[in-house]
Amino acid sequence: MNAEKLSNRLQVVADLIPDHSRIADIGSDHAYLPCYVVKKGRVPFAIAGEVVEGPFQSALRQVKQEGLTDKIDVRKGDGLEVISPNEVDCITIAGMGGALISNILEAGKEKLLGVKRLILQPNISAISIRQWLIENNWELINEKILEEDGKTYEVLVAERGIPLKPYSTDKNKKLLMGPFLITNKNHVFEKKWLEEKRNWENILAQISTANKTEDILQKINELKEKIKMVEEVLDIENS
Ligand code: SAM
Repeated sequence: MNAEKLSNRLQVVADLIPDHSRIADIGSDHAYLPCYVVKKGRVPFAIAGEVVEGPFQSALRQVKQEGLTDKIDVRKGDGLEVISPNEVDCITIAGMGGALISNILEAGKEKLLGVKRLILQPNISAISIRQWLIENNWELINEKILEEDGKTYEVLVAERGIPLKPYSTDKNKKLLMGPFLITNKNHVFEKKWLEEKRNWENILAQISTANKTEDILQKINELKEKIKMVEEVLDIENS
């Protein structure tokens, strides 16, 4: 991967950025994503935010090497602290856990003024993001799922709107598995949830032999509930 040729995962994120947006890519590492969209002429200005010194230096080097220092500002800082309100209209956060992405959004809420679109690519726990979006009046407007190098990635797109609109029925299933992804149910989606179901069944088998404390009983119920939801969505006969 480089600033000419993104990974499939980052390419999906890049394709969802509206043309002519001013963007901030938070947790930018080598700044490949902002370099790519600026070089393509799709974005006039970008901020690459990084909290760790090594990746921050890599981003600085990359932007300099590409001759893009007048169009991409590399800033060191935690989450959204690198941007000011009304400075950008689209934010991308990719390659982290869903809980971390939600924490970054929560901690920097006041910086979201003027931001029209969030493009979020959690490696795990997309549910944390869907929950945060609902609680903060962002409407999920699209989702993608893809597989690369044996790993599954989800990409969530949100804009300000009616947060519960995508969850008008079957809220819990849609929170867990994604309202748009459930509707399309492609091969990657099915594979991901069959694997998750298998993992939960293994955990269930293990903890079912443990002492039935209240915590264990609660965990067993949660796992059974999640397995049931996956079976219903994937149309699997209950075994
Ligand atoms: N976004 C790139 C991608 O998707 O390929 C890089 C992903 S890399 C796995 C995650 C990056 O996020 C790391 O460089 C890490 O230092 C950075 N990061 C983690 N927490 C952060 C935070 N709170 N603020 C800014 N950057 C953060």
